[in-house]
Amino acid sequence: MSPDARLILVLNSGSSSLKFAVQSTGQRTPLLSGLAERLGAADPLITFKDPENKRSAPLPGGGAHAEAMDAVLAELGARGWLGTLAAVGHRVVHGAERFTHSVVITPAVIAEIEACNPLAPLHNPPALVGIRIAMQRLPAIPHVAVLDTAFHQTMPPEAYFYAVPMSLYREHGVRRYGFHGTSHRFVAMEAVKLLGLDPNDHGLVTAHLGNGASATAVQDGRSVDTSMGLTPLEGLVMGTRSGDIDAGAVLHLMRTAGYDTAGMDALLNKQSGLLGLSELSNDCRELEAAAAEGHAGARIALEVFAHRLARHVGGLAMALRRLDAVIFTGGIGENSSLVRAMTLARLQPFGMVLDPAMNQQMTRGASGVITGSGITPCAAVVATNEEWLIARDTAELAQQAKER
Ligand code: ADP
Repeated sequence: MSPDARLILVLNSGSSSLKFAVQSTGQRTPLLSGLAERLGAADPLITFKDPENKRSAPLPGGGAHAEAMDAVLAELGARGWLGTLAAVGHRVVHGAERFTHSVVITPAVIAEIEACNPLAPLHNPPALVGIRIAMQRLPAIPHVAVLDTAFHQTMPPEAYFYAVPMSLYREHGVRRYGFHGTSHRFVAMEAVKLLGLDPNDHGLVTAHLGNGASATAVQDGRSVDTSMGLTPLEGLVMGTRSGDIDAGAVLHLMRTAGYDTAGMDALLNKQSGLLGLSELSNDCRELEAAAAEGHAGARIALEVFAHRLARHVGGLAMALRRLDAVIFTGGIGENSSLVRAMTLARLQPFGMVLDPAMNQQMTRGASGVITGSGITPCAAVVATNEEWLIARDTAELAQQAKER
């Protein structure tokens, strides 16, 4: 690390986990990353990973978020990094209409994030726990919130309204917000560079395919439509989430099969998606292996996944002036040549033709075009790096705060 490098700590605080990364400004790969997990359970664990090695240790004292944070800071201290820590960037899932960009955290910002809690009851409260602990432990440096929804605040009303009474929007904030904004923003930025597109005149559909999955139409660097909605349940087939389903089916099941709100929540968020379809696994790797051995459930799960994705890509393209490229990212998008091939086979109306050799070459970390040369629109793989973009936003806002 050069003596003038500034370090940014990136935190992603979940209900029973704390994910962290230490980024040096100007460097793409983190100096240190890791995960504290099973927080609140009997056997919490913290794992540290740097370019040289990976090690895990039990967390002391009941091991909640505070202990995890202390273990992270102790590790930074042992490495002599605390003095060069310039700021902390926090990933926050839901910012509703209150945040259009990343923001330096103040008491007013905390109150605004808290006001979004009803829209993301599983995600925002633990993020606030992480923010409060980190601000208490590191009070002298700026803390920045980077929101999953902020990138999608450029969507026009026709893309974000549901066709339900307007009073539900006014009184309950019911509209489409979109998520995975940091990933879509990052891969769109990278794709423009990779494909040599004009930053002020391009049209992309970015597909972030991980355990959660969403696709976004990006026009000239701005989100103009996306597949997720009020919550991260709408849209594509996901690991355990259903994505799009007729609301009538939900009503039908509640009326006739005895589901209450909690049961329906678990059904659609935890028991559906690839897991529900395959009756085997939510993990794409396992499904690919099983499908290759003739498992019918695994095969149909992958088929529905690819069909739904292609259908969304087609629909989202209509929000653009012109489609230049479809970009695959996330664990599945970056690694599954099978899902990419199955999806592109369904995008033939766009004239896309897969280059099988290029497609096979793309595995985690690699970026490149997977359609034949000269074909437009093209398809490409771009490895996402949300931590880096959170660190970059954080460093920029911290610098501005210092200059003010
Ligand atoms: P998260 O959304 O939790 O960050 P990831 O982006 O890591 O998750 O994506 C996890 C998904 O990526 C899993 O379904 C996993 O099976 C899939 N995946 C990872 N590597 C491969 C691979 N080599 N081939 C197919 N799928 C893969």
